[in-house]
Amino acid sequence: MIDLHTHTNNSDGTDSPRDLVNKAIAQGLTVLGISDHDTTSGWEEAVQTLRGDLALVLGSEISCLTNDGISVHMLGLLFDGAHLEMQVMLEETRDGRLPRMRKMIEKMKAAGIDISMDDVEAARPDGATLGRPHLADALVNKGIIASRDEAFQGMLNNESEFYVSHAAPTPTDAIQMIRRAGGVAVIAHPFASHRGQILQASDFHELVAAGLNGIEVDHRDQNPDEREMLRSIAHELDLVITGSSDYHGTGKLNALAEFQTSPAQWEKLESLADQRRVVRA
Ligand code: AMP
Ligand code: ZN
Ligand code: FE
Ligand code: FE
Repeated sequence: MIDLHTHTNNSDGTDSPRDLVNKAIAQGLTVLGISDHDTTSGWEEAVQTLRGDLALVLGSEISCLTNDGISVHMLGLLFDGAHLEMQVMLEETRDGRLPRMRKMIEKMKAAGIDISMDDVEAARPDGATLGRPHLADALVNKGIIASRDEAFQGMLNNESEFYVSHAAPTPTDAIQMIRRAGGVAVIAHPFASHRGQILQASDFHELVAAGLNGIEVDHRDQNPDEREMLRSIAHELDLVITGSSDYHGTGKLNALAEFQTSPAQWEKLESLADQRRVVRA
């Protein structure tokens, strides 16, 4: 069982890295990828918890914005965590998430919603990459909405009047940085259309030229038609096909390993990193 895309409480998941690794071992996963948004801060705890036969794939899900303002998530896996330029890029994105959150809160206040930055900070675990899910949790804590899911179906959706984007690298920049840091780049849920505007099939050529290695095809936010389109793009461009859960603990319905990557595709993806960086106990 290979699941390459999960989140911990170092971003908007609810399990600590320790809890996540323990769950993966208990469920019999063979390969677990940890990919918190715009950070590598959960890696160390995950490595310390590792035991038995589980193989750990350290990574990050990098928030990107195209020049047309389309939000894209890029999974960087197996890169060198000490790569300075990569860490600067991630830090800049994390920094940009603070003014962005303040702007969203201002818009909500202007609409008469009783929410403050302190409420959001109280809902964010220490050091976690700040995101809309923490704002959702703050709204839940104040009894304004019932769940994160309700927030993302309404007031926190990309199409909502309260939505504000944050500074982020372009998908091309992120791919090039991941590859320079020795890792592999897999575009996450590219056709998850209900989240907002998505890329076109023709956009993939440019990403491949930048060094894209794979496409996350099997993901709950993509329907069977979207998955088939992506599968054929991957075949045409000779890209690795992955499937993953995008597990967020209790922060999302996604169950660990609900979608998986085949051993053959994983082997191909791993061979494209500049070194063997999979962590084993
Ligand atoms: P942000 O990075 O701050 O723009 O927030 C986006 C994050 O919200 C994504 O990483 C998703 O994992 C999370 N998210 C999107 N939809 C939902 C949902 N329905 N329930 C919980 N979390 C969600
Ligand atoms: Zn998330
Ligand atoms: Fe994502
Ligand atoms: Fe994710």
